[in-house]
Amino acid sequence: MNNFQYKKEITVTTALEAVNSNENAAFIAGGTNIIDLWKYNITNPELLVDINGIDELRTIQELEDGGVRLGALVKNAATAYHPVIEKKYPLLSKAILAGASAQIRNMATDGGNLLQRTRCYYFYDPDVPCNKRVPGSGCPALNGRNRMHAILGNSEHCIAVFPSDMCVALAALEAVVNVMGPNGSRSIPFAEFHRLPGDMPHLDNTLQQDEMITSIDLPSNHLYKHYTYLKLRDRHSYAFALVSVAAAFEMDGNEIKKARIALGGVAHKPWRNTEAEEFLKGKTATADNFLIAAENVLFGAQGRGENDFKIPLARRAIVRACMMALNPETQRPGAGPSL
Ligand code: SF4
Repeated sequence: MNNFQYKKEITVTTALEAVNSNENAAFIAGGTNIIDLWKYNITNPELLVDINGIDELRTIQELEDGGVRLGALVKNAATAYHPVIEKKYPLLSKAILAGASAQIRNMATDGGNLLQRTRCYYFYDPDVPCNKRVPGSGCPALNGRNRMHAILGNSEHCIAVFPSDMCVALAALEAVVNVMGPNGSRSIPFAEFHRLPGDMPHLDNTLQQDEMITSIDLPSNHLYKHYTYLKLRDRHSYAFALVSVAAAFEMDGNEIKKARIALGGVAHKPWRNTEAEEFLKGKTATADNFLIAAENVLFGAQGRGENDFKIPLARRAIVRACMMALNPETQRPGAGPSL
């Protein structure tokens, strides 16, 4: 680890000024990813700007329109167990609690969750090429170990997946990311926040270098009765998703009034297909209709060898999650229709 400077700031304005005073500066909040990246020599900031003292970013606030604003520095665990989130957005609580470990959820912040980097094995090994770490150096995962890698939205430059569980629920809930920069604030629809790799896989998202996430807005909805977050992984705790599905519905009897389906573990960003959701609108909630929706979601999916199994796994996971969402009682481990 190289020498570095450390500053603690207690306002958004001074934190932005500090981080923009050095092109090799970085913010630190929970630190649950940046410290790993630093130890592995993936990042080496000269200036670390600690934003944990900015109290205004530490609140969960109900909005006049019925939505909720999550401050960027609210801890993941505090969000998951907040009574308003449990009541209005239980899908988000369930997704957060499926991620990481209790210790990490107690440290990690909501803003930081959006900014975590891929867990591609090659990305964390500075001795091998990686287009995400060193643009233009190559992607050994394309023909190498790619069991955890993407099946949707890939490019020939990168097939990494975005590892968050929380963000899969935020995609389904159509959250909005509020950011602040030297030129003021702006709001980014969640679907536009994370990027597909294209020919610039070193860019994970559309946040500018000189900007900071200040909050995440959850729009008012009625997706709190019929929902689930199904995460399929190699072990039951502290493992990243092979495939995960956030599914939520507004129902009128057995008719679907509104459907939201997002996938994790399959792409460089949380994957949502609005055509599949539109297909389900007005349809009867049956496994056959969910299977057609699943085929829509997975249109164009492509494996690279070790990860071929993810395509049929995702298809079955979508159907299973949708069936489970209709009856939250079936969400206990091991319950629900078989895969
Ligand atoms: Fe790097 Fe992406 Fe290839 Fe992994 S998949 S080695 S992150 S370029």
